[in-house]
Amino acid sequence: MNDDAAVAALQAVVRIPTVSDRDPDKVDTAAFDELLAEMARRFPLLHEKLELTRVDTHGLLFRWAGQSSRKPVVLMAHLDVVPVEGEWQHPAFGGDLVDGSIWGRGTLDDKGSLVGICAAVERLLEAGFVPAQDVWLSFGCNEEVSGTAAVLAVEELTRRGVQPWFVLDEGGAIASEAFPGVAAPIGVIGVAEKGVTSVELRVEGRGGHASTPARMGPTARIARAITRIDRSPMVASVPEPTVELFRRMGRHAPLALRPLMINAGRMKPLLTKALIAAGPEPAAMTRTTFAITTLSGSPALNVIAATAKAGVNIRIMVGDTVAGVLEHVRKTINDDQVHIDVVEQNEPSPISPMDEAFALVESTITELFPDAVPAPYVMMAATDSRFFTTICPRVYRFAPFRMTKAQRESIHSYDEHLGVDAFLDGVRWYRRLIERLPA
Ligand SMILES: [Zn+2]
Repeated sequence: MNDDAAVAALQAVVRIPTVSDRDPDKVDTAAFDELLAEMARRFPLLHEKLELTRVDTHGLLFRWAGQSSRKPVVLMAHLDVVPVEGEWQHPAFGGDLVDGSIWGRGTLDDKGSLVGICAAVERLLEAGFVPAQDVWLSFGCNEEVSGTAAVLAVEELTRRGVQPWFVLDEGGAIASEAFPGVAAPIGVIGVAEKGVTSVELRVEGRGGHASTPARMGPTARIARAITRIDRSPMVASVPEPTVELFRRMGRHAPLALRPLMINAGRMKPLLTKALIAAGPEPAAMTRTTFAITTLSGSPALNVIAATAKAGVNIRIMVGDTVAGVLEHVRKTINDDQVHIDVVEQNEPSPISPMDEAFALVESTITELFPDAVPAPYVMMAATDSRFFTTICPRVYRFAPFRMTKAQRESIHSYDEHLGVDAFLDGVRWYRRLIERLPA
């Protein structure tokens, strides 16, 4: 499989609109069928030599038998994409090759990794290579809607007694413009992710005519609860992976910032304050966040609400727990009449160790991207790999593609595109990672 064939495969896969949806009736299953057929055509050796188990509706779990099954690894990606939004310069499902980039929904999230992994495996199979360890490929079909494919893949691995040495999924990248004043791209490897939890606040009242309102009706009570949450952030601190991220970036930072960054471990309180002051994004690196998202009251202007509701989307920081956060919400609102209904709850992931598996990922980054600074970080978003933390302590979130700030912002937005050279470097990265697995 030469470079042109790998690029053509990515274009073909991007052209198939595999948009997932929480409602199974709204999913275009024909598109998913077509994607699986396209993959079988583009990667014939992979489909011939690897053992395939289907999971969920369209999830794929491949096993590539290695010389040993002692330290199996799992490489992950997902087949589905989010719906198209905004005005695109090039068609979202066009897979067009323009200005040295492949354009379309999923090029970065996450079909670039999907095709990158498959192209690397196909090339190694062509060369007659046998990996030192079993390599599993786990491709889910409903990552974007928190579906069950990854959970079922974990169940299948558990049933077969597979305990991965490490798991690699999407998340980090070779990120340029990652930090103001740092010119070197940072190869950020997610070693943990925040937990996503949502609650609904609800106040019931008598309702009635708007001409005779009582004080502190349901809507006023909800408003007070919201304001209290907004004014009472949880305790902030900088977790260990973030300290290490700053330490490593520090050597490449402007002189004025270097002491703070390189000594991040000893200057945690100052660093925490600086991050909170720097804006919502850096602040989110230091603590659990609360976003009031949905709101509802009365359906008519002249009717008092009998029920008022507010949805709160919570991203739980590594170190905090669902129970602790719910206790914080209850205490902060301090009002028995505000009911707190938990809609979904997920703990933050454990922190993956920076041991020899991390070192393998890191040194493969250095080999392929000599200008980049590999570093751990805590992800703000959730990935399918969180389900694998139950069977594997080493879960790393990294896609081996160079991405600018604008590209990272295009994920789940518009004008998503991946450079052809960046994609091909990524294919080589996956290949080297597999080649370098230790005996
Ligand atoms: Zn994704």
